Amino acid sequence: MKRVSLSLGANVGDAAETLRNVVSELFVEEKIFDIQVSAMYETLPVGGVEQPNFYNIAITAMSELEPLELLDYVQEIEARYGRERTTHWGPRTLDIDIVDIDGMTLTTSRLTLPHPEATKRAFVLIPLLEIAPKMNIAGRSLKEWLSDIESSGVTKLEDEM
Ligand code: ADP
Ligand code: MG
Repeated sequence: MKRVSLSLGANVGDAAETLRNVVSELFVEEKIFDIQVSAMYETLPVGGVEQPNFYNIAITAMSELEPLELLDYVQEIEARYGRERTTHWGPRTLDIDIVDIDGMTLTTSRLTLPHPEATKRAFVLIPLLEIAPKMNIAGRSLKEWLSDIESSGVTKLEDEM
């Protein structure tokens, strides 16, 4: 059994509703267990593409799945929501990234762990900090990683979720 952390984002259609639906499916499908869900955050897009704001949440859970099986599972959920991979950094109905699996490091063509961008993205770190305050990525706490980056574009939505 491994502890996994995921970062979810969406900015097409009713993005907040998409994230709520995904969370319910995770609970119903029981492929991962002991699920903790952060509050919802609204995030200004990064990367210079003109597009709607993102909604982001973080999830931690326990899983018996092998890393690539977990990737298959999250990609199957993305596909269910009609994720189209067009512009890099562009709009997406649903993006699910695997931030970490038990501190494992892995570099394969399909999966890199920990997620290489996670420590540079406030919209990943801030929601995750809420549910995993003691978590480390590559030997540093989430707070330490956050102190290096700009995080003003990430706003907690008190009434969503
Ligand atoms: P991004 O999330 O970087 O905006 P995508 O969601 O389109 O872009 O991901 C592109 C590819 O990244 C996926 O097809 C997947 O195989 C790969 N990938 C590598 N490491 C990870 C990870 N830790 N979590 C999720 N996807 C990953
Ligand atoms: Mg992704």
